[in-house]
Amino acid sequence: MALISCQNCHKVFQKENYNTFVCNRCNHHVRKRAKHSLQISIALVICAILLYIPALMYPMMIITKLGLVKESTILAGVIDFIDDENFFIAGVIFFASIIIPIVKLTGLLMIFISLKVNIQMSNKTKVRILKFIEFIGKWSMIDIYVVAILASVVNYGEVFNIKGGIAATSFTLVVIITMIAAHRFDTRIIWDEGK
Ligand SMILES: [Zn+2]
Repeated sequence: MALISCQNCHKVFQKENYNTFVCNRCNHHVRKRAKHSLQISIALVICAILLYIPALMYPMMIITKLGLVKESTILAGVIDFIDDENFFIAGVIFFASIIIPIVKLTGLLMIFISLKVNIQMSNKTKVRILKFIEFIGKWSMIDIYVVAILASVVNYGEVFNIKGGIAATSFTLVVIITMIAAHRFDTRIIWDEGK
């Protein structure tokens, strides 16, 4: 006899074996374990960290103003908005494109490393951090929305227009890959070696 809980709705079933079955409450396919879950999530996080470098170094926005082309990275953009006294937009961009990705990536790395190396952190804390990372995941796209909205609204040809740069693409990939890494991670691994 084994007690198995549905990963999606958390209903608990009493089963004879660990074969895959369909949850009768939410139709989720309950599998024993996602294969190589930890390794794949670690690889995805490393990939996201590497992609975050071009996201910071290359221009996020390419602004053309009266024929003059100005390329602006994330940090330069934040500083520009502060100079223009648009503190709210500066804050939102700083939070969405610097704070959130760094918190997410270090949080995930910390959990993954803690499963290999002995770090004093309770399993409940680890699960809480993961839930939090999944929760804030959707908010980190704000920066891309800002660029996308500016690019579509601000377009007066050569007089004044804004386009997305290389960093916009890398940043989008960072956000998507981090979300997959967090979502794909099989949280049951945390409880494997019970503390
Ligand atoms: Zn279910």
